[in-house]
Amino acid sequence: MNYSASLFSIHSRETQEFGQEQIRAGGHDGVETILLPTLSRTADPTWLFVDEGFTLAREHEVESLFAIGNGYVGHRGSLAEGTQLSAPATFVAGVFEQLDRPGSVPQLMTLADWAGVRVWIDDHPLSMERGQVLEHRRILDWRRGVLWREWRHRGPDGRITNIVAFRLASLADRHLLLQSVMFTAENYSGVLRFESSIEIPPGVMSSMPADWKTRRSSERPNVLALALRSPGRDVSIAFAAASQLLTSAAAVGERQIEVDERRVLERFQINAEIGMQCQLGRTISIYTSRDVPEPVEAALSHVNTILPKGIAAATVAHESEWHSRWEDADVNVEGDTLLQQALRFAEYHLISAANPEDERVSIGARALTGEAYKGHVFWDTELYMVPFYTFTHPLSARALLAYRYHMLDAAREKASRAGFRGAMYPWESADTGEETTPRTVIAPSGEVITIRNGEMEVHITADIAFAIWQYWKATGDDDFLLQRGAEVMLETARFWASRGAMEADSAYHIRHVIGPDEYHDDVDDNVYTNLIAAWNLRRGVESAQVLQQRWPDRWRELSLSLHLSNDELRTWLKLAESMFIAFDPQTLLFEQFSGYFKKEPIDLKCYEPRSAAMDMILGHEGIQKTNVVKQADVLMATYLLWEELPADVRAANFRYYEPRTGHGSSLSPSIHALLAARLGETALAQQYLKQAAEIDLGNNMGNAAGGVHAAAIGGLWQAIVFGFAGLQMSPNGLTFSPMLLPHWRRLAFPVEWRKRKLRVCIEPNAMRVKVQGSEPLNLRLTAGSQILAEPGREYVAEQAQGGNWNPWRVIR
Ligand code: BGC
Ligand code: BGC
Repeated sequence: MNYSASLFSIHSRETQEFGQEQIRAGGHDGVETILLPTLSRTADPTWLFVDEGFTLAREHEVESLFAIGNGYVGHRGSLAEGTQLSAPATFVAGVFEQLDRPGSVPQLMTLADWAGVRVWIDDHPLSMERGQVLEHRRILDWRRGVLWREWRHRGPDGRITNIVAFRLASLADRHLLLQSVMFTAENYSGVLRFESSIEIPPGVMSSMPADWKTRRSSERPNVLALALRSPGRDVSIAFAAASQLLTSAAAVGERQIEVDERRVLERFQINAEIGMQCQLGRTISIYTSRDVPEPVEAALSHVNTILPKGIAAATVAHESEWHSRWEDADVNVEGDTLLQQALRFAEYHLISAANPEDERVSIGARALTGEAYKGHVFWDTELYMVPFYTFTHPLSARALLAYRYHMLDAAREKASRAGFRGAMYPWESADTGEETTPRTVIAPSGEVITIRNGEMEVHITADIAFAIWQYWKATGDDDFLLQRGAEVMLETARFWASRGAMEADSAYHIRHVIGPDEYHDDVDDNVYTNLIAAWNLRRGVESAQVLQQRWPDRWRELSLSLHLSNDELRTWLKLAESMFIAFDPQTLLFEQFSGYFKKEPIDLKCYEPRSAAMDMILGHEGIQKTNVVKQADVLMATYLLWEELPADVRAANFRYYEPRTGHGSSLSPSIHALLAARLGETALAQQYLKQAAEIDLGNNMGNAAGGVHAAAIGGLWQAIVFGFAGLQMSPNGLTFSPMLLPHWRRLAFPVEWRKRKLRVCIEPNAMRVKVQGSEPLNLRLTAGSQILAEPGREYVAEQAQGGNWNPWRVIR
């Protein structure tokens, strides 16, 4: 499908060629005419995500999947003219509201919809719900980060209108949004009326104060602005927009502006003749008081600077930014179309979710694509998403981890209020770093459930330390470690040294926690928590040692400000060594928490096929009594601490916990796929990879309407790169342990390690690695040789009969 459509740009003349005809600009008195160059759509269908037709009941799900974003702003893929079920929403990272209602917690605010465009043909509204949809598709061009829509519609009176539209959130200029809607009156003449608006979506009215204002830019009177404030937070959010209608023939009537407390609206009218085309082009800017002191002025002047430079320049910059991000990230799987699609989907949304330019925001569980989980940040970010950025775009990872550094004081306060030392990170976090986990939630069954995760799901603190350490190891970003990371490593270690207690058995116990398996509340000695806490204590000490040896001045400064002594460091090591880990040397099994092995055994196979989660089937209380595990828990530790566990222990625990896991969280299948791949369990690896790939694309958890599952898509990337390619960090380089599924012909991806860029290509019996950068690195195969790989060279290793790997050799 090779398609290109016209788009607008600035031009100084009054009329220009448009197709075969002359066009005339309307409504922009005194402003340059906007012209129509081309924005092409990617030709290769593997880059296009198409939703064909229209099913009202699926609308919310489609809106999530087709969302656009750039880490600063996100916008759901709702239809411009709306339907009875449309839920258009704009989110800006870090803009939360706190409603004045008992028990309410801060939530990502649903801002005005800037993409509203409605059309009337002789006073009849053009709507998907009136007349006949002849053709309709939404197409997300992942490669260019553009959402397209094609719609051919026959009204009840037989009039056929054709529409081609696109919108984008610029990746090159994060405050900028562009929209274009092209109409063709195929078989009729009549009066066409267009309305373009910025408006508060229906249903969110109550959260909006009525202090909308329209402001006309003094420079360009046709740039409109409006602002709103976030309840309970007092952040001002300003939108500015310039719209222009271009037509090939008929005169454009006067532009009208209408403003009420819910919207600003521009109205254009033309007399359309048969076959006539017209195009509405819009340039929109968003600023908030988090960014600048005067967001209205900033948004107005932003639009004013974009217009003279030309929209075309803005789209080129956007496209080239996407191009370069894909260069550094695109994973290719030949021989599996569906998986290839799922990977592009995943990476598109991951790239859309992060903002390397803002250290004060992080990514919520559904990124900026939906309102589930209220935009809150969980361990999802550090353990499921950050690895993708660490290895493909370190600047994004750095900003996300810096967010936790900036929230350190709030974490210290949480620790001290609970009677602990150091930093205790919130299970759910928003704009201030305070705990934002709600106290109760209503389950889909209607059951009101008390949520204790805010006090008990403490593993998050070590998860954050884990991601920071991994980032530092992978990037060699010493500056980050010195200025930000080390302090978090030390304060989190200190927390763990206070959270547990040495007991009569001379072991350090951590009681009253919730592990990753949330089907079991308030448990003692959750193995995942204890293992990763011990890891955190040891890495706290190691961070101190690294500083002492390499940056003694910084160590002096930090140890003074934190009142940290070598005695305290020794205690951390002792506690790590004394950590209670329930492990049976006979069976090689960890007991997930004290008493887990005595829980009522459930045979999950008896419930197959199953579309509901096990806690829905057995109830929140019921499931606590059983041994059903919600998601990778002991197995999450097996993955993260892989190197520290003997091979037979990893395998035994996988064999034991895998059949007992219900995958009640979207975070689970990818980790199972990753482990199964590393353990050579081909059939399970394939089954879990498929399940992970279908979480959003197949809506297999049934809740994609609330936004894309950002952790699951990060997990999918990890399953491929860390699981199937088996990438791991090793001293001075990288190790691979490739495992392709039988139907894959090739797995190829780029990866970045300490400023070396590698292009990895794995084929059934060979693997090639091209190295770029200025220094060599060690390339290893787990089951084979290693080589010091020089930049500018390409290396190959081949698998001999029987599966052994021959030594690496240089081929270029
Ligand atoms: C999740 C918890 C979360 C709670 C409240 C539950 O569905 O499993 O992790 O804390 O919702 O947001
Ligand atoms: C999972 C958590 C996760 C949260 C947000 C819950 O259902 O159990 O591990 O952090 O969702 O995605």
